[in-house]
Amino acid sequence: MAPEKRQPGPARAARTRAVHGSHPVRPGAISTPIVHSATFSFASLDAMNAEQARGAAGAFYQRHGHPTLHACEERLAGLDGAEAALLFSSGVAAIAGVFLSHLEPGDHVVALHQSYGGTHDLLNWGRDHFGWTCDLVDAAAPADWPRAFHKRTKLLHVETPTNPTLCILDLAEAAKLAHARGALLTVDNTFASPVGQRPLDFGADFVMYSATKSIGGHSDLLAGVVTGSRAGIEKVWKARKVFGPVPDPALAWQIERSLKTLALRVEAANANALELALRLAQHPGVVRALYPGLPRHPGHEIAQRQMTLGFGPVVTFEVAGGGAGARATVDALQLVRHAPSLGGVESLASLPAFTSHIQLGPEGRAKAGIPDGLVRLSVGVEDVEDLWADLDQALARACVPRA
Ligand SMILES: *Cc1c(COP(=O)(O)O)cnc(C)c1O
Repeated sequence: MAPEKRQPGPARAARTRAVHGSHPVRPGAISTPIVHSATFSFASLDAMNAEQARGAAGAFYQRHGHPTLHACEERLAGLDGAEAALLFSSGVAAIAGVFLSHLEPGDHVVALHQSYGGTHDLLNWGRDHFGWTCDLVDAAAPADWPRAFHKRTKLLHVETPTNPTLCILDLAEAAKLAHARGALLTVDNTFASPVGQRPLDFGADFVMYSATKSIGGHSDLLAGVVTGSRAGIEKVWKARKVFGPVPDPALAWQIERSLKTLALRVEAANANALELALRLAQHPGVVRALYPGLPRHPGHEIAQRQMTLGFGPVVTFEVAGGGAGARATVDALQLVRHAPSLGGVESLASLPAFTSHIQLGPEGRAKAGIPDGLVRLSVGVEDVEDLWADLDQALARACVPRA
C-alpha cells in the first residue's frame, strides 16, 4: 500500500492532526457541528441511491453512518495513518466487527493467552455459535507461534503491551509471520493509543481500540474504533450495519473532542507512569515493578523502537505480602481510585488476580505470571509527587517490607 494513500492531506505531525485533522482547515465552525438526525432526505431517488452507494462514507440513515461520526472517523484515520476508520459503541463491538466480517465457519484464529478477557469471550462465542476455531499462544514466546498456524488460519490477533504483565511483542515480526501464512494481523492497540503506537506502520492490517480508555480519556464514555485499508474497512462496515453498534452523534462528537487533547494526555500520563515505575522498582515494599520503559524490561528495546510518546499509562507491580498485601495497599490508597479500566486522566488501581483474571484459577494465574500480590496501576495526569506520596503511604501502611 502506497504511504501517500495512507496519509491523506499534507503530512502533519500527530499533535497537529489530533487538533485539526489531516485535511485542509475549512472556514466556519471550529468545533464539528453535531448533526442530530436519524435519517436524511434527498431531492430524488437517484440522489438517495447515490448516497447509499457511498457505503461507510455516506449519510443515508444513522445506523449506516452520519456526518458527526464521519468527522471523528476521519480524524482517527489520520492519527493512525490509515485510509479509513470506523467507530463502534464499545471496544468489544469493534473487535467483534473485524472478526465477524473476516471469519467464516471453520476459519481459525491465532490469539494470545494474554488477550483481553472480552476477546476470549468473543472467540469462545464464535466457536460455539459460528464454528470458528482458535489456538492460543504466549506473547512472550513468539518462536512457538508458527506451529499454531494451519491452512484455515485467517487472523493473528495480538496486543502489545499485554494486560496486566506488560509483555511487549514485535509487530513487524508478527505481521511478517501472519502474511507469510496467508493470514491478516489484527492489533488491539488500546494500551498504547493511536499517538503511542501505529501498528499499520509495522504491517498490521486492522487496528482496534477500546476508545473507552485513552481515546475517550476521561472515564465517562464507552466506545470502540477500527482502522485499516478502505477495502478492509468497507467489509467491517457491513458487519457494523448488520449488527448495529453505531455511536450516536453526541458520542461521536465527544470522542472527536477528546482526540484534540489525546497527545497531551498520553504524553503526560506516560511520563508519570515511567517516573512511578522507576520509584516503585526501588521501593522496599515492592517485589518487582513491570514497565516497558524500565531498561531491564525484556521488551524495552522493541518498545523503544515501536512506541512513541513513552511506554503507555499502565504500570504493574507486585507488593511484598502477597494477596493480602496487595488488597491492603489498594484499600489504603487515598487519591488513586480502586476501579477497573485504564487510560483516563485519573489514576486507577486494580487487583488482577481478584478481578480480571480470577477465572483462570490459581494454577492458570501462576502459568500466566499473575501472582495474588499484583497491583495494576493506570496512571493519570495528576501531579506525580501527589501520586507518589499516595502510593508510598499506602505501601507503608499495608506491607511488611522485604527483609
Ligand atoms: C477495555 C478493553 C477492551 C474492551 O473495550 P470496551 O470498550 O470495554 O468494550 C478491549 N481491549 C482492551 C485491551 C481493553 O483494555
